[in-house]
Amino acid sequence: MAFEIFLKKIAKLTNLTKEELEILSTPNHIWKTEIEISGKKYPAFRVQFNNSRGPYKGGIRFHPEVNEDEVTDLAFWMTLKTAVADLPLGGGKGGVRVNPKELSPQEIEELSRKYIQAFYEHLGPDKDIPAPDVYTNPQIMAWMRNEYEKIVGRSSPGMITGKPLDCGGSRVRDIATALGGAYILEEAVKKLNVGRKVAIQGFGNAGSNAAAILHRLGYKIMAVSDSQGGVYSEDGIDPNKALDIKKAGGMLGCYCLGTVCEPSQLIKEGKCRAITNEELLELNVDILIPSALSEVITKENAAKVKAKIILELANGPTTPEADDILYQNGVTVIPDILGNSGGVTVSCFEWQQNLNNESWSEEKVKSKLKEKMISAFNQLWNIFEKNSFDLRTTAYIHAIRKILDAEKEKKF
Ligand code: NAD
Repeated sequence: MAFEIFLKKIAKLTNLTKEELEILSTPNHIWKTEIEISGKKYPAFRVQFNNSRGPYKGGIRFHPEVNEDEVTDLAFWMTLKTAVADLPLGGGKGGVRVNPKELSPQEIEELSRKYIQAFYEHLGPDKDIPAPDVYTNPQIMAWMRNEYEKIVGRSSPGMITGKPLDCGGSRVRDIATALGGAYILEEAVKKLNVGRKVAIQGFGNAGSNAAAILHRLGYKIMAVSDSQGGVYSEDGIDPNKALDIKKAGGMLGCYCLGTVCEPSQLIKEGKCRAITNEELLELNVDILIPSALSEVITKENAAKVKAKIILELANGPTTPEADDILYQNGVTVIPDILGNSGGVTVSCFEWQQNLNNESWSEEKVKSKLKEKMISAFNQLWNIFEKNSFDLRTTAYIHAIRKILDAEKEKKF
């Protein structure tokens, strides 16, 4: 499995003992079954990797490529992410190998409920708390909560997160990943004293919210893109207007500050130009925010990156070879396990609200998120300044140490 190759590399850097490596590479439980919907069987998984720091936490995805190895890898990364974000949670992941686009809404509800029927014994607010992931959403979480409560015969809102607000969800969850990333970026910009020109690849939940939040904070959004390509403007782009255009036309148009304009007109005036997703990564900006796909910054283009900070909102946008080049070139990469951990942090808040029968205001969630993200970033930065590794390697080592410390404490 991919995580095992990664662990061996880290083990060498940090002199992990054989026993420590064994703990870190062995998932606690791999639960699996098949779920039958309309006569067809779909393999379903819940992997509980490590709970030394708290109940297992991780999403459930419905996707045709889900398999045991992938779910196990993702559960491992969740264990590291919750440790780096300093949450009282462990790591898990779930999935069903299914193409949900081929199912009717009724069949998706049936699949969601049968998933809980299959795994409910292993789930619960003090055991394992799932959440949405690829092709699962708040409605699916609501069905899952309802099914769990029917089986166990009591109210249990904290058994799952990412629920709709009126079903025990948390305020701010919809923008949490982007907002958490923005809080971290503010700290990094102060520490590194870099400018505020930003390019963002991907204009979905993470990317469009990051653009809107950073624009409000006074950053200049120079370029944005989606799967169709991107736009660049010397004068800066108003992301809220870009979003309106995307909603109306299904793809990004070009909206520059103060003007409503066609890309062609702007190109003529030299104010705006259409760019490719590859060009976006190499723009002359201070901050680059990959918020779409994995492995977009590679050994082929890493040396051409001009940004001083890369904030990874996407999972895995930088390859290991690219990481080495960026580090040599003095580019600071805020790794995904910290950069996009705002989402799981607000999930943790949702769970805490449910456990205490509370509903926090938007201001309270935002202020707690800010405190948590700044503290997680500074914990990491302090270690980073004292060692000779890049920020990503530092984050991995830091997370692994925290997990091993918790494992040791369990034995007393
Ligand atoms: P999303 O589906 O809402 O948006 C994805 C965006 O990427 C869309 O704008 C799409 O047009 C764009 N895109 C697709 N192909 C592209 C391409 N070839 N080039 C450029 N853009 C392309 O997804 P999201 O929730 O915003 O997630 C984006 C990334 O962030 C993923 O890697 C995801 O795992 C990660 N992430 C998201 C969250 C969250 O809470 N949303 C949390 C953690 C990590």
